[in-house]
Amino acid sequence: MKFKSTRGKVSPIGFIDMFLMGLGEDGGLIVPETIPTVSEEQLEGWAKLSYQELMFEIFSLFTNEEIPEQDLKELIKESYAGFTSPDVLPLTTLNDSLHVLELFHGPTFAFKDVALQFMGNLYAYVAKKQNKVINILGATSGDTGASAISSVRGKEGIQICILHPNGKVSLVQELQMTTVQDDNVLNLSVNGNFDDCQQTIKELFADISFKTKYHLRAINSINFVRILAQSVYYFYAYLQLPANIRSGGVNFSIPTGNFGNIFSGYLAKKMGVPIKQLVLATNENNILERFIREGIYKPEGFLSTHSPSMDIQIASNFERYLYYFYGEDAVSVTARMEQFKAEGQLTFTAEEVARIQQDITAYSVSNEECLETIQTYQDRYNYLLDPHSACGIAAYEGAGNQDDGAFVSLATAHPAKFDEAIRILGIEQKFPERIQELFNKPQRQVIVDNVTADIVEQLESFYKVDK
Ligand SMILES: *Cc1c(COP(=O)(O)O)cnc(C)c1O
Repeated sequence: MKFKSTRGKVSPIGFIDMFLMGLGEDGGLIVPETIPTVSEEQLEGWAKLSYQELMFEIFSLFTNEEIPEQDLKELIKESYAGFTSPDVLPLTTLNDSLHVLELFHGPTFAFKDVALQFMGNLYAYVAKKQNKVINILGATSGDTGASAISSVRGKEGIQICILHPNGKVSLVQELQMTTVQDDNVLNLSVNGNFDDCQQTIKELFADISFKTKYHLRAINSINFVRILAQSVYYFYAYLQLPANIRSGGVNFSIPTGNFGNIFSGYLAKKMGVPIKQLVLATNENNILERFIREGIYKPEGFLSTHSPSMDIQIASNFERYLYYFYGEDAVSVTARMEQFKAEGQLTFTAEEVARIQQDITAYSVSNEECLETIQTYQDRYNYLLDPHSACGIAAYEGAGNQDDGAFVSLATAHPAKFDEAIRILGIEQKFPERIQELFNKPQRQVIVDNVTADIVEQLESFYKVDK
């Protein structure tokens, strides 16, 4: 199988090239030329597979044997060895119709680990095979950076630099990044906010000579491999449910920021998982909810909420959805994205809104409702939700519940990671050992001003070039 861009100007490429390209060279997002489908029989045949075996089957449909079978199996095995649950991503049943898929048992306690642990291993594999250095550069508001660092720390042929806003990530997130002592990790703590960090990254990726000299690679959710790795758990959750419960199809509720996680669900549905509703849960930054309910896609003021990993205005994976919405027509997508750039918003007709709503139901969750949901589920089920996962549950309660089929709500972070919000409710939790021990470790980071030249100087002495 080959891969192409949503803007139609990238000639078809294979799996590894697609992985290394990240964002399409024409500014679009990479998608498969055709989405492979899985028959009902094939799907049922996978019901007894472990998470790793299932991932192998799904990836095999995309890798064109560019990665030999045994290598792929080994990569997958290694990627999930650091997950603490034997099921990797356990499914917890709260009542007859509601199930929670816990995506947070990886090394940094957020769902980003599911895809990034694999991507880190794949980068190391490619670096070795092609005898190339890989220099990773990213900006983070917390979860992605911690997860990406954890995925490549100590790996040969890879250098990773992550920019985070000094003092503006949660304490646990900061410690997860800065207590890593491996020499291939550089944490730049920038005197500025997340947008400043993001802006610097954009400038550096746009600097073609800098980018080419260092083979700069990105880690954000534009990479299709990340999307694909997340699609696996939609198959897995479906197959974990007893046949009589899932027979009529299953609904999912998804805490959403960059639209990556929910797009993975959309892809799984296209591949053949019997998914009925995809419920998109946002916090008060509800641009995506307004898009789905009213047909207006327009960023507004940024709000800080209890679920900071969903505090996003422009959802980078939105363009992938548009591509399928327009029947895989790259010309329409290009025109619409250019219009968005020029006018700062997009509007959709009533007929289009009706079509969008057949794919996705949306619900936005206020700060108050988020906390209430945490309290209610603690009281009712003795089950502690983190604020992001609570948005998913609140959306299930508010928008999804109309359907009488089984519901799977995705839990995207461990509650210990966002203790600040949980403490507001006076709920005390015991930290897992792997978080507790962070508090005693020495930190390693370089504090820099928000000046691109200073940041470049740090990178030039840190990054490696091909021999
Ligand atoms: C990144 C993140 C999300 C949002 O996922 P997207 O793929 O960006 O939509 C939700 N919850 C947590 C805890 C996250 O880290």
